[in-house]
Amino acid sequence: MHRVTLGGPGLAGFPAGQAGGYVKLFLGEGANGKPTVRTYTIRNQRPDQVDIDFALHGGDAAGPATRWALQARAGDSIEVGGPGAPKPLPTDHDFYLVAGDMTALPAIGANLAKLDSSASGLVAIEVQDEADTISLVAPEGVEVRWLVNPSPGARPDLLADTLRQASIPAGRIAAWAAAEFEAMKRLRALFRDELKLPKDSVYVSSYWKAGLVEDDHKVIKRKDAESQPA
Ligand SMILES: Cc1cc2nc3c(=O)[nH]c(=O)nc-3n(C[C@H](O)[C@H](O)[C@H](O)COP(=O)(O)OP(=O)(O)OC[C@H]3O[C@@H](n4cnc5c(N)ncnc54)[C@H](O)[C@@H]3O)c2cc1C
Repeated sequence: MHRVTLGGPGLAGFPAGQAGGYVKLFLGEGANGKPTVRTYTIRNQRPDQVDIDFALHGGDAAGPATRWALQARAGDSIEVGGPGAPKPLPTDHDFYLVAGDMTALPAIGANLAKLDSSASGLVAIEVQDEADTISLVAPEGVEVRWLVNPSPGARPDLLADTLRQASIPAGRIAAWAAAEFEAMKRLRALFRDELKLPKDSVYVSSYWKAGLVEDDHKVIKRKDAESQPA
């Protein structure tokens, strides 16, 4: 992960309390003449600053957001849209199932920090390397399991299979997951079809898709959403 802190007078008027929400980063113009836009989570927010954590990927084939993050230097500027509202974990549930890869780690970190101290649950987080594990603020009863997969997108069952190992107590269960598209579909099937969790206790989102840049991912994501039962 690579953190970039945005600040300065341009942030004047940015609404408070947006940690876990997201912004749109405008990264110039693509070959088609359209703006190149990428979506990133607000990991932390202070009165005049927001932190963005970039999951680095792709090496020489890295996308524009990853390249920008690596090259950004103090004093650089970037156009930012948003914010989009945070998607926190719902309150008053007896057990929390949470899963995500490194792109969701900022949102998971922000969400766990807001959970009631008596909350319990299992959190599965897929990272590329042992060195990507970080310390998260979470209630004592919430177990965090780090899963190392050096090839993001290559093991879509990993997160769902890990949550399947949870000893789920009786009561109200909440689930939150964000990950690569195929992993998201496995997690959605677990929550909806296997565990039959009620809709308002579940948030599931695809944050990227292996082989597609963000614009193309958005198209697939929209089609997938439209094909789902209401
Ligand atoms: C609401 C929301 C919040 C998000 N928050 C974050 C965040 O806080 N931090 C974060 O890092 N990402 C976050 N993402 C995901 C991020 O927007 C995508 O990973 C984005 O595609 C990265 O843009 P890029 O320009 O680096 O790569 P792109 O130009 O979009 O893609 C280039 C290539 O890299 C691949 N790729 C894209 N992302 C990854 C990845 N993570 N691992 C491996 N290959 C990848 C693509 O499939 C493509 O082949 C979020 C997405 C959403 C929808």
